[in-house]
Amino acid sequence: MKKVYSTEILANAWNIKNVLEQHDIEAVIKNENLFSASGEVPFIECLPEIWVKPLDVVRAEQIITDLEGLPEEVGPDWTCAGCGESNLSNYAVCWSCESSHEITNENDLTN
Ligand SMILES: [Zn+2]
Repeated sequence: MKKVYSTEILANAWNIKNVLEQHDIEAVIKNENLFSASGEVPFIECLPEIWVKPLDVVRAEQIITDLEGLPEEVGPDWTCAGCGESNLSNYAVCWSCESSHEITNENDLTN
C-alpha cells in the first residue's frame, strides 16, 4: 500500500476514501484512531492518511487532484438525514455514515 493523501481533517479523509471507493479503488485510512489520542505522538504523524494499492496510486492521485481542484463554493453545508452529521457541500456522501447526499436533500423537491 502507498500513501496518496494526508489531511488535518478526518472528515476529509473519509470523503476521499468514499470517492475513491466509488471509483472501485480500495482505500484505507491510517492514523484514524491516533488522531483522537494525539497526546504522545508527534502531531505530523497523527494526521489521517489515505493509503491505496500501488496499482491504484496514479488513478487515486488524479481523482484526489480533481477533487481538490473543485471550487469551494458550490453550495451550503448539508446535514446528513441518516446520522445528523454536517458535511461540506462538496461531499457527495456523508463522511460519517456514507449516506448519499442526493436522497437527503429535500430542497430539490420544492423546485
Ligand atoms: Zn450520515
